[in-house]
Amino acid sequence: MTRSAILFERAKAVMPGGCSRNTILRKPHPIYVERGQGCYVYDVEGVRRIDFANNVASLIHGHAHAPIIAAVGKQLQKGTAFTVGTEVEIEYAEHMCGRNAAFEKIRFVNSGTEAVMASLKAARAFTHRPKIAKVEGAYHGLYDYAETSQTARPENWGQPERPLSVPVSQGTPQRALDDVVVIPFNDVPRALAILDAHRDELACVLIDLLPHRVGLIPAARDFVGALRRWTEQNGALLIFDEVVTFRSAVGGAQQWYDVQPDITALGKMIGGGFPIGGIAGRAEVMEVMNPLHRPAPFPLYGTFSANPVTMTAGHMAMKLYDREAVERLNALGDRARSMIGEVIKTADVPACVTGRGSIFRIHLSPDAPENYRQAYLPPERAALLSAFVGHLFEGGLLMVETATGFLSTAMSERDIEEMADAVFAALHKIKPYL
Ligand code: PMP
Repeated sequence: MTRSAILFERAKAVMPGGCSRNTILRKPHPIYVERGQGCYVYDVEGVRRIDFANNVASLIHGHAHAPIIAAVGKQLQKGTAFTVGTEVEIEYAEHMCGRNAAFEKIRFVNSGTEAVMASLKAARAFTHRPKIAKVEGAYHGLYDYAETSQTARPENWGQPERPLSVPVSQGTPQRALDDVVVIPFNDVPRALAILDAHRDELACVLIDLLPHRVGLIPAARDFVGALRRWTEQNGALLIFDEVVTFRSAVGGAQQWYDVQPDITALGKMIGGGFPIGGIAGRAEVMEVMNPLHRPAPFPLYGTFSANPVTMTAGHMAMKLYDREAVERLNALGDRARSMIGEVIKTADVPACVTGRGSIFRIHLSPDAPENYRQAYLPPERAALLSAFVGHLFEGGLLMVETATGFLSTAMSERDIEEMADAVFAALHKIKPYL
C-alpha cells in the first residue's frame, strides 16, 4: 500500500468521503502532497507533477512564490486576525480599485461562494426585488440561488427555451428555486424572452464570461451586450462572476468586452494563495453595505474577512500580476492551446480544445460545445474523460477533473511542451475508445 492509500484510509474514518472538499478525490484514492514549488507539486511518494490545477485557478504565481512567502512571513509575526482595522486592507482595496474603473468600491470576504452570495444580496437590497437570473449549468459556488441548474440528469433540464431551476443539493427549498430564473448561454432571443417574463421581479443577472462547466467557451459579445442593455432598461443589476476569470486582463475578463457590470464577484487568485472573496462595483450600489449613516440595507459581516494575512498575500500577488505578467501568461495560454491543437491533429483523434487567456479545456469530441447541454457528458463519456485525466496524471500533469488547465506565471515554455507531450501520450491511450 502506498503512503497516500494509507492516509486515505485514515481520512475516510473521520471525514465523509475522506475529505473536506470533494475536489481532491480521485480513483483509487487521492494523492497527498508533500510540497509545492513554483509550478510543480511533489506528492508523499516523491512523484513530481506539473500543476495545471493550481488549487482550481487560485495560485496565479504557482506554489510558495518567494515574494509572497516573505511578505506573509513578516505579517505572521505581527498577528493573523484582529477585531480592529489594518492598513494592509486599505492598501489592497486601493490597489484593486485602481485596476478597473468599474471597481469604485470594494469589500473583501473569504471565498468565491461568499462573494457571489454577497453580490446577489447586494442586488436584492439595492433593487428591492427577490429574483436572480443565471446561465444554465454555470458554477458560481454553493449559495442556494447561485447553485441551481447544474444537474447531471438531463431529464430534469426542461425545454431549451425555458430551462428549469433544478436543485443540486437535495432538500433545497422550492421557494429558493422559484426565485432563480435560468437562461441559456449565448442565446440572445431565448434569454431575453425568459428575462422579459420576470422583468419586474429580477434583482440581477449573474454571468461568468468564460464559464468552465458550460464548456469553457467565451460569452458572445452580443450576449453580454444584450444582458447589459436589458438590465439597464429594466432596473436590474448586471453581475459578473470573475472569481476565475479575473486573471484574463488587469481588470478582469470584462475588459475584453468593454462592458461594465454593476458588481463584480472576485475570489481565488486575488488571495495570493489564501482564502478570499471580493465584491467590487459601482459606489452607489456598494452603499447598501454602508452602515455609517443608517442601518445598512445589506449588513455584511465576516470574522476572517480582510484578515491581514490574506490581504498581504493578495496584494503582493496582484502587484506582481501587472500588465506585463498578464500579457506573458495569456501568450503562454495561446501557445498551450495551439500545441494541444497540434497534438490532437497528430494523434488523429476526435478531440478539441477551448478556453481563452491562461485557461484551456480539452474536450473528447471533434467540436466544441456551445452550451451546458452540449457540454454534458453521459456516464460512459464521463468515464472516458476520467480515464483520460487519469492518463494525464500518470503522465505527470495535475489537471482539474474536466481536463481543464489554469496556467501560472511560474510556468515556462518548457512546461507547456512537457504538458503537450503528456496530452499526446494520453490521447494515444484512449484513442481506441473514442
Ligand atoms: N465562481 C466560480 C466561477 C468558481 O469557479 C468558483 C469556484 N470554483 C466559485 C465561484 C466559488 O469559489 P469558492 O470555491 O472560493 O467558494
